[in-house]
Amino acid sequence: MKTLAQIAAQLQGYDPLALPAPAVVEFLDRLVEPVTGSEDIATAQALGRVLARDVVSPLSVPPHDNSAMDGFAFDGAQLGPDAPLELTVVGTALAGKAWQGQVRPGECVKIMTGAIMPPGLDTVVPQEFTKPAGEGRIAIPAGVLQRGDNRRHAGEDLMAGRPALLQGERLGPAACGLLASLGLPTVPVLRRVRVAYFSTGDEILSLGEPPREGAVYDSNRYTVRGMLARLGCEVIDLGVVRDEPALLEQAFRQAAAQADAIITSGGVSVGEADFTKAMMKQLGDVAFWKIAMRPGRPMAVGRIGSSVLFGLPGNPVAVMVTFLAFVRPALLRLMGCRDCAPPPLLRARSAEPMRKKPGRTEYQRGIVSAGADGRLEVRTTGNQGSGVLSSMVQANGLIVLHHGQGSVAAGDEVDVMMFEGLL
Ligand code: AMP
Ligand code: MG
Repeated sequence: MKTLAQIAAQLQGYDPLALPAPAVVEFLDRLVEPVTGSEDIATAQALGRVLARDVVSPLSVPPHDNSAMDGFAFDGAQLGPDAPLELTVVGTALAGKAWQGQVRPGECVKIMTGAIMPPGLDTVVPQEFTKPAGEGRIAIPAGVLQRGDNRRHAGEDLMAGRPALLQGERLGPAACGLLASLGLPTVPVLRRVRVAYFSTGDEILSLGEPPREGAVYDSNRYTVRGMLARLGCEVIDLGVVRDEPALLEQAFRQAAAQADAIITSGGVSVGEADFTKAMMKQLGDVAFWKIAMRPGRPMAVGRIGSSVLFGLPGNPVAVMVTFLAFVRPALLRLMGCRDCAPPPLLRARSAEPMRKKPGRTEYQRGIVSAGADGRLEVRTTGNQGSGVLSSMVQANGLIVLHHGQGSVAAGDEVDVMMFEGLL
């Protein structure tokens, strides 16, 4: 494991007091190591889990050449360029069992979708392309079909002996279906990542406590919990921890003992007159950053014991933005995912001008919709304050105004990180 100082030394122009957002992603990528423990679980339970090894296909899918349509199977060598082809129907091939019989030139077999292609036949004419040509006979008009049409090849989806899915695949519905198509009742997956979370701040109330002057209810616990659940992490909820050294120490020690990663919110700003930062420093190898971004400038990052620490700012929108921009890709890496890259950004035309200074990354809450011409358009939600959580509810994505970018004019294209699949 590399120390923070070693990682910092590898990064060009590392400045903890003005760190560009892309440098944060790179730093975390070097800090985090994937978990290694694995287990075999039922395919039915595998959604969202990460494959521990390559899965080699034990069989071919489909197992036989078969028909892609309801129609008639025949030897396509008989198709001529201009004359219709007349064939005598000599049998029926149903899905699920092979048709046993010989088909000679001038003959065909009625065949259902998924039925095995009889030997020697390579082409299927769909039912609706044919014309009746007397008792037990069909005609195929010229020019409607080519040899090989509507035949699915054995193994065209998956070939026996080849890797069907690679280690590090995060199993979505399609991958789960694919594993099932291989007849695999269990899958080897990496163990779930455990993340401990607590909120800090003497003004933070837990649900159930009566409101009091100057205090706010803890929303970060719920946004973080939700985002962790979306990633499939196990959450250890350590509640709200008051700003007392003994309580903070106990919370950090418990978190480090139980979890692969620790996330906290609050208490990392520059002006904080509290014990959170001091305790992080005392217990671990921790850097305190000012990130060139808005919202979300302050952040603490490092290790306590063998757990990775993400000390997020306190403001509710800043928590969600820093989670999506930095913590999420780092957790994907911790989970052992092959693809930890942030999701691809969408381009949309801005419906309004946006003021922006080069030299920091700004994340505005955006609402993307189809414009009058059908192309994507994005407008901002109202108040962009970093405490205005309702803006995150209204938005369906974050407009990402990159580090070097300046102001945006109405009609300019901007990048948007869509929430779908993330939130
Ligand atoms: P801090 O980063 O501790 O200075 O907090 C910045 C702002 O976020 C303050 O207005 C806090 O009251 C607010 N805040 C901090 N933690 C939470 C939380 N868990 N839930 C809601 N608001 C919070
Ligand atoms: Mg605070």
